Amino acid sequence: MSRQEEPVELINRNGLRIDGRRLDEFRPIKMNVGVLDKADGSAHIVQGKNRILAAVYGPREAHPKHIALPHRAVLRCRYHMAPFSTPERKSPAPSRREQELSKVIREALEPAVLSEYYPRTTIDLFIEVLQSDGGTRCAGITGASLALADAGIPMRGLVAATAVGKIAGRIALDLSDAEDKQGEADMPVAIMPKSNVVTLIQMDGTLTHEEFERGFDIAVGTCHTIHEQQKAVLKERYLAIKEEVEEKSETTKGEEE
Ligand code: ADP
Repeated sequence: MSRQEEPVELINRNGLRIDGRRLDEFRPIKMNVGVLDKADGSAHIVQGKNRILAAVYGPREAHPKHIALPHRAVLRCRYHMAPFSTPERKSPAPSRREQELSKVIREALEPAVLSEYYPRTTIDLFIEVLQSDGGTRCAGITGASLALADAGIPMRGLVAATAVGKIAGRIALDLSDAEDKQGEADMPVAIMPKSNVVTLIQMDGTLTHEEFERGFDIAVGTCHTIHEQQKAVLKERYLAIKEEVEEKSETTKGEEE
């Protein structure tokens, strides 16, 4: 990963980070589901300056047919950064990094999907990064798992993700782009909070054994907090739909009487 040319102080003398956060603080997350009409399921996640859309199509008949599997659905994933998501215009063509992230995000979500319910089908997941500021794979996973749930795809549980890292020699939660570039390590973690199964763990840089264990525990705890928020977002959405349906049936009843 490239180093920034002009290093900034990552932790000030009050122990606060560039954006005013404490070391154990993650950027506030806002999530919405059902934000796109055409997709079967969708979600929008804003985490700090990251803005990401996730859209799901399927399960639907596999095309081309030869990719179909007789015992389960095939999950396909495309992670893509919009040309305007970075300070310098990014080429819209898929980079090696985007191909790698598409793969790791798919692998982080696959264990959660009950794909055996839909043999010979595909589930297509599109993650579009509209604005990026470090941690987009984690925010993408958190948002994508909501989009899968919104599409009505049966799952063992939701997947939540966050990264921990090391900046100025200290363990810090949820690194921003500047912290990631100047820091010593970044470790994205995704889990299925319901069962505590780890579905993604990566490491860029180095941590001591003790730092790894402490960082991992912080990441897992944060994933549980994010999971509570994911569940609340889904509940809110489905209560709103339920109310809408009930109102409609009341109106129809009234008209019939
Ligand atoms: P993640 O977003 O999961 O942390 P990386 O560690 O690979 O993934 O990237 C860190 C950050 O670097 C991204 O969130 C983005 O802000 C920035 N970045 C990635 N690719 C580019 C690019 N091609 N041009 C400019 N900035 C980029």
